[in-house]
Amino acid sequence: MFGLSLGKVLFTVLVVVVVWGAFKYYSRALGGEARAKRPSLRERVERAAQDAVRKRMGEDGAPGGKPAEDLVRCPNCGAWHAKGTACPCGYGR
Ligand SMILES: [Zn+2]
Repeated sequence: MFGLSLGKVLFTVLVVVVVWGAFKYYSRALGGEARAKRPSLRERVERAAQDAVRKRMGEDGAPGGKPAEDLVRCPNCGAWHAKGTACPCGYGR
């Protein structure tokens, strides 16, 4: 019936599996070679983020910019204010 036999079906499945395996092998070999030469998307994103952070740090650290200062928490109201200064709530005055 339809010229279909178990032997032909098994042969077709075998051919599909062999072709699929060969394709996987070749694509992995080619992909691995290309990946080694070109930076991956993750590496490019990381580099772009590092450059952006460095650029921002350079702008903030430019002469004339306000230097970073430590903040202390007010024991009275809980607000954060610069170390050595009085809290706006009146504590430490
Ligand atoms: Zn306070």
